[in-house]
Amino acid sequence: MQKKGEIIYLLMFVLLFCMFSCESARQTVTNKQEKNMDKYKISKSDEEWRQQLNAKQYHITREKGTERPFTGKYNDHKEKGMYTCVGCGTELFSSDTKYNSGSGWPSFYAPVNEENVQEETDQSLMMVRTEVLCNKCGAHLGHVFEDGPKPTGLRYCINSASLDFKATDEKAD
Ligand code: FE
Repeated sequence: MQKKGEIIYLLMFVLLFCMFSCESARQTVTNKQEKNMDKYKISKSDEEWRQQLNAKQYHITREKGTERPFTGKYNDHKEKGMYTCVGCGTELFSSDTKYNSGSGWPSFYAPVNEENVQEETDQSLMMVRTEVLCNKCGAHLGHVFEDGPKPTGLRYCINSASLDFKATDEKAD
């Protein structure tokens, strides 16, 4: 009689263990899927990005390329306005935070809104750097360094090819 009780107890334990394992495995898969799907609000296929962007824009934003210094169209650009993502139009940097870093790339001391950019550790090229991406479409923008001017001390070093520019309409004010 006692043996029967032990067997039932053991079976229940095995059953509970299986249920728990299955559930946690199922949740891991679901979380992974949700994470990938929710990573960026704008998600396009490689082919769609190639159609939308020119070769240089595609290489820099989708393949994490870097334009040669002093070659980008916004390096020396001084107009008042807003720099937006070339991939999705999200507002990224205001001309008010742009400064001449001497690096050869457009440099800003802050994004227009911290939620519009995403930062990730980049360990390529034998360096540890902080990569800056568009938070809406995942476009690679450039890197951020801690040698910028006041008030943030940050230098967002951004490729011109990942940006578009909307000039401020002075008459609208
Ligand atoms: Fe974007």
